[in-house]
Parts: sequence; C-alpha cells; structure tokens
Amino acid sequence: MDEAFKIFVDRLKGGKVEKIDHSFAPDFIDVKEKDLSFPAGVEVRGEAYVTNEDLVLHLDIGTVGVMPCSICNNPVDVRVDVAGCYHVESLKKIKAGIFDMRDAIRESVLLECPAFAECNEGSCPKRKELGKFLKTSSSVESDVEVEGYHPFTDLTLE
Ligand SMILES: [Zn+2]
Repeated sequence: MDEAFKIFVDRLKGGKVEKIDHSFAPDFIDVKEKDLSFPAGVEVRGEAYVTNEDLVLHLDIGTVGVMPCSICNNPVDVRVDVAGCYHVESLKKIKAGIFDMRDAIRESVLLECPAFAECNEGSCPKRKELGKFLKTSSSVESDVEVEGYHPFTDLTLE
C-alpha cells in the first residue's frame, strides 16, 4: 500500500493539522464494473486533524474516469472532481492509530461519477442516427438513459 494513504492519528493529537497533497496510483479504486475505469492518477489535497473523538479528513479529490458513451459506446473521459468533502471517522474505530484513507477516497470518487456519459461533450455524432429510430426528439433523453436496462434488445445503434 502507498504509505501516503496512512494517517497516523497520534501525530495529530494536540491540534496538529496534517497537510495532504499527493497523487495516488488509481489501482486502489478497483472497480468491479467493466464499464468504468480510472487510468489516471488520483489527486488528493486537503488536511487531516483530530477532534476529541474523531479523525476529520477534509479533501479535494480529482481524477479522470473512462466510461462508454451511452449512445455509441466509445470511451468517454469523465472528469471527476470532489471539492471539500469531509470524512469523519471515530477514533475508537481506528486500529493501531493508523487510518487508511483508501476507502474514503474510493467512495467519494465513485459517488461523484455520473451514471451516464456521452462523447463529444454531450452531442454524440450517433445521436442523430439514433433519433431516426425514436418517435419524438423529446424522448431521446429518457430512452437513452434506460438503455442500460436493454429494453430495446433488437435496436441496432450502429
Ligand atoms: Zn458517442
């Protein structure tokens, strides 16, 4: 494990604030879904401190996820930025005085990821072709969004 994931709680006692500024290799995110990957580093900046009962992390997190365009299926880069998120952990739950930030960072990144992405900054070139199969243009959005449920198994988007 990257040592920078570790927060040594005892060093923060007495009001010390630890600055965090690190770029982590993205493999710790370990996404099970094939549709989402994180090829870039995960930038984490912020601070850690303790109160009487808790460890507090206050972090800005930034990375880039790659997911398929919901229309043409080409990979789309999705910028993921989490600004000023707080993670509070009870000191009682922290074993051996070391808190591992991995889960907290992973959770924040995954929560911030959009459920859908579209290439070409939201105007996928295939959108027009898809539109021909749909009755009204206003139904494009909602029909596209349920595409993951495969209601149109015989609809070819190519
Ligand atoms: Zn597309």
